Amino acid sequence: MKKVCIFCGSSMGKDPIYKEEATKVANYLYEQKIDLVYGGGNVGIMKILADTTLDLGGKAIGVIPQFLMDIEVDHKSLTELHVVDSMQDRKRFLVEISDGFIAFPGGIGTLDELAEILTISQLRVYDKPLGIYNFNGFFDHLLKFIEHATNEGFIQAAHYNNLIIDDDIESLIQRMQNFKPVQMAHWLKKIKNESSVN
Ligand code: AMP
Repeated sequence: MKKVCIFCGSSMGKDPIYKEEATKVANYLYEQKIDLVYGGGNVGIMKILADTTLDLGGKAIGVIPQFLMDIEVDHKSLTELHVVDSMQDRKRFLVEISDGFIAFPGGIGTLDELAEILTISQLRVYDKPLGIYNFNGFFDHLLKFIEHATNEGFIQAAHYNNLIIDDDIESLIQRMQNFKPVQMAHWLKKIKNESSVN
């Protein structure tokens, strides 16, 4: 992976651990010669990731919709800043230019971006790894929901098992590097069978 996109909070979070972990992630990406791709903001965890990367001499690439530029939350010193028309265009752009994705703690914006990748991954629109950085048990409740939906037959077990969940950034990125997507034919056959569709 040459470029990894991180979805993360536009807030800092209450516990200093979030800021500390963001610094650690940026350092590790830099060590691995992986460029940071993110939402282009100059606030919250986004700012920590971008500033740390730039201070190290690494590349930080932002993708931001025009309306967020208009309220001046964009980072002014990024290596590249791509301005797009809408939140939907931003997601498409982030997905196209990145080789993998990491969900870092955040709020609704992070959840939206994470859901986008979960959906396109299971439909195999792209075969790029998605890592959930679950330090401090941050995503435990969301993962419980995904597990529940899997047990109830609404998420394929293969897709659940396809998620790369880790509380150690080095192991998360190494597992992402070794990612092999599930085969689509198997689960499509299963959902067609249960719906009696040829
Ligand atoms: P949230 O998790 O709700 O704080 O939203 C953060 C995610 O949504 C980031 O990954 C960004 O892509 C996007 N986002 C939300 N707010 C902003 C902002 N003020 N500036 C730039 N991007 C933002």
